[in-house]
Amino acid sequence: MPLMFTRPKPLDELSALLEERPSVFVLGCNGCENCFGNGGVEGLYRYQQTLAELGRTVVAEALIDLACEATHDRLWLDRLAPELARADAVLVVACGVGVQVVAGLVDKPVVPALDTFSPGGRVGQAWAFESCAECGECLLGLTAGICPVTACAKGLRNGPCGGSVDGRCEVNPELLSCGWARIVERLRASGRLDSLKALIPAADHSRRRPSEELLTAIAALRGGESGR
Ligand code: SF4
Ligand code: SF4
Repeated sequence: MPLMFTRPKPLDELSALLEERPSVFVLGCNGCENCFGNGGVEGLYRYQQTLAELGRTVVAEALIDLACEATHDRLWLDRLAPELARADAVLVVACGVGVQVVAGLVDKPVVPALDTFSPGGRVGQAWAFESCAECGECLLGLTAGICPVTACAKGLRNGPCGGSVDGRCEVNPELLSCGWARIVERLRASGRLDSLKALIPAADHSRRRPSEELLTAIAALRGGESGR
């Protein structure tokens, strides 16, 4: 069973994230397609059509084996550097982890094409840094590609909380950097600080929930246990 799932972001949200960004560089992820669906060749094809409907121009496309691996991303981003330079935004057709890795590599607004959510229940055990909490409503296009749900100790959607000192989080300054200080710094560095003037609306927790169809499929995989 996959650890997470993805679904296409609602069109009105995608359109707003790409407002005044007519030229788009699109990255797809083969790993996402294999694990969660919605990436791969089909994902690229779907977003060619979607972007055309939204009146945007695709300046280049690349299909990366694993968007969550910076070395894979760099290969394509370097190879297509002239096209990337012409793009106003990078649309990443991958899970929230992949979007964050790409956002750390490019000096452009990075927009998630998908929302990442959890199938529910315990999905595995690993000692690793959690960079996506599968909130179902990906905010990375508003927060410079840094996840406020996982990078902020309080999961604030509109930060910072006012408690950070020298870029450290008040919850545990020794261990934690302030995620919102990083968001502000990245937005400032790329001249996009104004985007913080718009308040991010309260979370719509219903979007965390898988569709009825998916819940039924998960229940079947779990041998009849509903998992709800
Ligand atoms: S905002 Fe964070 S938790 Fe939500 S889908 Fe995006 S990366 Fe995952
Ligand atoms: S100090 Fe920063 S990371 Fe810590 S809770 Fe406040 S906004 Fe979040």
